[in-house]
Amino acid sequence: MKRLEISEIFLSFQGEGPLIGRRAIFLRLARCNLRCVWCDTKYAYEPKYVLDVENVVKIVYKYGNKLKIRKPLLVITGGEPLLQHDSLKCLLCRIYDRFLIQIETNGTIDPSSIIDLVHYVVVSPKLSNSGNPLEVRRLCETYKFLLKKFPDKIYFKFVIDKYDDIFEVENIVNSFDIPRENVFLMPQCRSSSEHMEKLNLVQKLASEYDYNVSPRLQYVLRIR
Ligand code: SF4
Repeated sequence: MKRLEISEIFLSFQGEGPLIGRRAIFLRLARCNLRCVWCDTKYAYEPKYVLDVENVVKIVYKYGNKLKIRKPLLVITGGEPLLQHDSLKCLLCRIYDRFLIQIETNGTIDPSSIIDLVHYVVVSPKLSNSGNPLEVRRLCETYKFLLKKFPDKIYFKFVIDKYDDIFEVENIVNSFDIPRENVFLMPQCRSSSEHMEKLNLVQKLASEYDYNVSPRLQYVLRIR
């Protein structure tokens, strides 16, 4: 029986990216291969629970049945969820028909093995502002091919800390031929006031370079 290392499972609203504002079940898988200096989920570096896939299926169904939504959104996040791709695949096979599934990844691991079993892949490639060396945070080359095959499934979120970050974003977008309409810029922040301040910068850059803006609702509403 496959097992999943889990940090937490909870009900909230999607705070960022293309499905922002939607009611959602969050399954946060444990462990990450990066160490971003501003990471706000460091508690996910170590698992809180190790559960059989079968038990995880039961738990997400229980949450799903509480919602008055035909096909509830399930956000699978981390940590880096693709570190557990084998067990994750087992889970996805069991729940694909029941949930609208979005996986959030840092983009360093090839998602090909599970891409047919999710509805959205939201990739957040890390820039130099994350403090990770380029060799470990580099976007996986497979996205060049996957973007051609699944243009409506793969979205990108970039965390912006300062004006010059946009040059790194442009470099990635151009070298992977990412459609701009699939790209969201969002502020790097650790407080509501910093969120508002950086959101102004993000809006300026998004207007200048024709990207989408994503606020971070967790810094506006009292949600996690
Ligand atoms: S990739 Fe995400 S979970 Fe991993 S260290 Fe960076 S912000 Fe934290």
